[in-house]
Amino acid sequence: MSERLLVVAAHPDDEVLGCGGAIAAARDAGQAVRVIFLAEGITARYRPEDFDKPAVKAEVQARNDNAFKALGLLGVEASEVFVNQRYCCRLDQVPQIDLVKEIEGHIRDFRPSRLMTHWSEDTNVDHRVAHRAVLAATRPIGIGFLKRMLAFEVLSSSEWNTTAAFPANAFLDITAQIERKLQAMAAYGDEMREAPHPRSAEVIRGLASFRGAQAGVRYAEGFSLIRSLEA
Ligand SMILES: [Zn+2]
Repeated sequence: MSERLLVVAAHPDDEVLGCGGAIAAARDAGQAVRVIFLAEGITARYRPEDFDKPAVKAEVQARNDNAFKALGLLGVEASEVFVNQRYCCRLDQVPQIDLVKEIEGHIRDFRPSRLMTHWSEDTNVDHRVAHRAVLAATRPIGIGFLKRMLAFEVLSSSEWNTTAAFPANAFLDITAQIERKLQAMAAYGDEMREAPHPRSAEVIRGLASFRGAQAGVRYAEGFSLIRSLEA
């Protein structure tokens, strides 16, 4: 049976940074891919009293629109992209049960064989909340179709935890997808910065090169295995 990949990301651009190569590779292989975002990625930059201003709302909308563009470049159909309006970097103020129910709904509906989400130790609070919500939503009861769960690393969050290094122990060769990963990231416009910012083409390529060196391929994405039924 063909693989089905569900990506649970906190914010638009996390999916490209974390597993854009894996998404493109899955689509190249004709596999179904669904991406869900639990929050928007903008309002952390503003004061709460400004959240309802038209300019801020327009920025949120543009970021969500860019998610469809970026994922379109990776071959994901718009009908399989689900954005949210929850405030960025405040997911710890959302009842976890709401996030869990939403993720459970997608798991029942989409029936993924693979799930990719955030690492538990990221510096970004929404990333950590996403990880915990996924663990709760994937209690191993009646979801035997879900064979592998992997955590991805997100530049400008994972590596900013300077006392715990991302424990990459599963690798995917993205040599054939690295350029599209960079193009998809460029679709996010200003989210892509100049080096030495971690969200720069140079550093994204550099990390892929480093993970590739760990796995013996030119470019790779590194993952941390959360759970596998294929031991
Ligand atoms: Zn994020």
